[in-house]
This record gives sequence, C-alpha cells and structure tokens, in this order.
Amino acid sequence: MIAILIKYIYNFKQLMKLLVKKAKFIFTAIFICLALVASNSIQRHQTLNNTQLINQCLVAAVSGCSANAQEPSLPKSIVNEPLSQQERFVTAIIPNLKVMPAPGTYEYTLLRSYGAAFINPADDVKLPPKLIFDNEEDTKEFQSQLTLEKVVGTNDCYLQKSAADALNKARLQFNIPLKSGYGASDCTRSFATNLRFWHKYANNKTLEKVKEGKETAILGLVAPPGTSQHLWGLAIDLGVSNTKQRQILNQNGWFQTVVKDVPHWTYLGVSAEDLPKLGFRNQVIQGITYWLTPLS
Ligand SMILES: [Zn+2]
Repeated sequence: MIAILIKYIYNFKQLMKLLVKKAKFIFTAIFICLALVASNSIQRHQTLNNTQLINQCLVAAVSGCSANAQEPSLPKSIVNEPLSQQERFVTAIIPNLKVMPAPGTYEYTLLRSYGAAFINPADDVKLPPKLIFDNEEDTKEFQSQLTLEKVVGTNDCYLQKSAADALNKARLQFNIPLKSGYGASDCTRSFATNLRFWHKYANNKTLEKVKEGKETAILGLVAPPGTSQHLWGLAIDLGVSNTKQRQILNQNGWFQTVVKDVPHWTYLGVSAEDLPKLGFRNQVIQGITYWLTPLS
C-alpha cells in the first residue's frame, strides 16, 4: 500500500514538472512572439515617419532636406518670411528678362547697371531679348518691333509710346527740357551713336576691363557698345535742374537709375512707392535720388 502511494506521489511530481516545463515553453514562445510583433511595429512606424518626411521634403523642394532631420526647414513661401531685395527684384524682372545671367559675368554687370527698365510691367512696353546687341542690324531688328512716338516739341526725339506719353504728360505740367535742347541723340539711339559716344570716353582696353569687372566707373558715363538703355526706346537725357521737375518725372514713372549719370532718365512705369517693393535700393548723391538695382 505504501509502495503504491510512493509511486503515485512520484508520478504526480513528474506530472507537475512536465506541466511547469510546458508552461515555461508556452510562456517563452508567447513572449518571443510579442517581442517580434512589437519590434516590427516600431520599425514600421519609423519607416512611415521617414517616408512622410521625405515626401514633405519633395513637396517643399527644400534642398539638403534630410530624412533624419528632426525639424525640416520650410521654404519661405510656407513660413511667409519676406523676400530679400534681390529676390524681389529678380522675381519682378524674370517675366521680361527670361534668363538670369550668372553673377560675375559681363551680362550680370550690365544688368546691375542698366537692368532697372526690366521691371516695367506694361504689356505695350517691349524689353530687349538680350543685354548686348551685336551690331547695327541686330539693334534695328529689335527697334523695328517697337511702337515709337515723338516727344512733343522736339524735332526727332522718339521713345516707346508709353514712355513718350508719360514724358509728354510730365512736360505739360512743367518745363523739362532735353539735355541737348531737341535732338534725337538724347532719345532712342542707333547702335552707331552708342558706339560713337563710347569711343569719346573709352580707349581700346576699356571694354576688356569692363568685361573682366575691373572697370565700372565708366558705366555711369557711357554705355559699352550695344548695351545702352537708349537703344531700347526707354531712356532720355534731360536738362533737369530742380526738385519740382524731378518730382513730376517720378510721378509719371520716370526715374534716375544709372548712378552718377545725372542727365539720364529711365522709364520704369511704376510709382516711387512701388520701387522698394520691387527690390530697388535708393542712393542719394549730391541731392539726386538714384534708384538702383539691388544686384551686388
Ligand atoms: Zn542717357
């Protein structure tokens, strides 16, 4: 009887051992499964976060945006950060200029010095397709597309119609003489006239120095061959001597845009209040306010 009891207890112990063993195995298996599921879920969450971030980067077109970045930087249009002077100016001229020259090039120097006219927003004002005309034929081809109008009270001074209309309006309000009095050379010029004026002030090496960026002062005195605003029908040289004349010209969209070129006026077709919004910076030299492009 005792032997049977001992055997029974022994079997019971063995059974319990087996059960505990199995329970341990099942518990471990469940734990491993749970751990695997949790790990996969974390990885998937991380992948999703990165994908969302990359998509944000692509949509925002942010250069250098990293998928591991904690706080991706946003473009200015999203955070409403105001544009710089240069960005405002470039945005304004691109519809008329089409291709922006690279900084440091001769074209960039010309755009900085004479490019103010490119902000003109009027549909009937035509801007040149490039910053340098090669020769007379090239210049004439552009000028033949312009609608020119005579400045009232002159012999043969012609400007693009909008520019002439605005100047005629200003001259009706106040006496504003041309620099030479009445001549065509103050107004829309030929390639040959531009070239003749250039040779009056420049020697053989000057153009090369301008192209290399070593000479800039002459640009306020005379424009290099094929580059004058006078070729575009949007500039005139005037004999302005007082503030009232300047005020009336400004009110009619005419401004001094070439620094130190005192008689030279450019038709921009906008008000003075709009110029800073378009990125222009003003510089006052000897009482004259010049409105300059913000290109550096
Ligand atoms: Zn001029």
